[in-house]
Amino acid sequence: EYLNTIEKLEPQIKSYLHITKDLALNTAQKVDEKIARGEEIGTLEGIPIAVKDNMSTKGIPTTCGSKILEGFTPSYESTVTQKLHDQGAVILGKTNLDEFAMGSSTENSGYQITANPWDTTRVPGGSSGGSAAAVAADECVVSLGSDTGGSIRQPASLCGVVGLKPTYGLVSRFGLVAYASSLDQIGPFAHTVEDAAVLLKAIAGYDSKDSTSLKVEIPDYTKSFTTDLKGLKVGIIRETFGEGLDNVVAEAVNQGIKELEKLGAQVKEISCPRFRYGLPVYYIIAPSEASANLARYDAVKYGIRSQADNLMDMYTQTRAQGFGKEVKRRIMLGTYALSAGYYDAYYLKAQKVRTLIKQDFDNAFADVDVLISPTSPTTAFKAGEKTDDPLTMYLSDLMTIPVNLAGLPGMSIPCGFDGQNLPIGMQLIGNVLREDVLFKVGYAFQ
Ligand code: GLN
Repeated sequence: EYLNTIEKLEPQIKSYLHITKDLALNTAQKVDEKIARGEEIGTLEGIPIAVKDNMSTKGIPTTCGSKILEGFTPSYESTVTQKLHDQGAVILGKTNLDEFAMGSSTENSGYQITANPWDTTRVPGGSSGGSAAAVAADECVVSLGSDTGGSIRQPASLCGVVGLKPTYGLVSRFGLVAYASSLDQIGPFAHTVEDAAVLLKAIAGYDSKDSTSLKVEIPDYTKSFTTDLKGLKVGIIRETFGEGLDNVVAEAVNQGIKELEKLGAQVKEISCPRFRYGLPVYYIIAPSEASANLARYDAVKYGIRSQADNLMDMYTQTRAQGFGKEVKRRIMLGTYALSAGYYDAYYLKAQKVRTLIKQDFDNAFADVDVLISPTSPTTAFKAGEKTDDPLTMYLSDLMTIPVNLAGLPGMSIPCGFDGQNLPIGMQLIGNVLREDVLFKVGYAFQ
């Protein structure tokens, strides 16, 4: 059924870069046989799921939305997709993204532009736009994305679905193609908070192959579901309701906050004074890490190779042809910020401010259980509207980036629509490893 929907909608939506039809049908067949034999099946068994194309899948093309990896087929499986296979999930395919997860609209993909299912002239957000659109268009039940500065939450908001970025270290990054390693996390997209909770449990957990993986027990998040938020302390981040926020978005989120109050939550305003430095800090740290991570695309180990007379030309020509504009921009920014003489002024300074942003959150969580902000300052924008203006595009992640810098869990849940029937998302931010609180609030709210 889902493959049929994909066939019908893909010419318009373009969520998928690669569809794994045979794999999906084989897996589904096995589940059917199990059911016919009267055997019990697991929670994820037979569930059609899509995976962002920056997670390594053995024998299945993995491009990261980049021409430099055209035709590349990994020889190893990422931990998350291995977990999906082990639990009998039906992987339908790999979804479109901004090249190497750099972007906020999925327009930086080297292959195709994904449409927002609510209005196909608009973007689905990014960089996990394919995964968000696939869920919104019912081209899968749930999907996986990755979030370095907002790439799960912002597209979830623009596509009207639930999207969660877990605590840094909760989900293994083994096999996730690295963009900015100290910020990257994999997380779920779903129609409901419950589905997101089930999928997170299925992919989370310690992994010795990821040195930043946390050794913690993964709870059954659905146990925290209630419809009563009595006693819960909610903090509204004052700084996120200022300049640059669309009125309709502010209204919908304020309405959402009133709903939480009706459910019994105690709401108050909280200040995170250094929150607004998140964006500039991110655009030093993320490109710096990216410039190092992307050095591996040297035409020798992976992907395409340009014909050249000598080694240096082979490197430079391959990278010149294979990388898109945004990726090159970030490599240049990053190498500049890391270069001797500038390192202290930019990279080191940014790391210090990152610590201050984390302190703001720590102070806030001494007082409240969960923080609230809009997810994105606007609803879905028109394709092409921001492509020539990277700075405006970067502003899309104003509210989501500080959460990555602090390593905290953040979830976007739908909270209303604007006058053009475009969805609006509300962001819930939790303390370290308090995904249970986000799910609890999200479930009650929904
Ligand atoms: N949109 C942000 C960027 O362009 C965040 C991307 C992400 O989270 N991968 O870097």
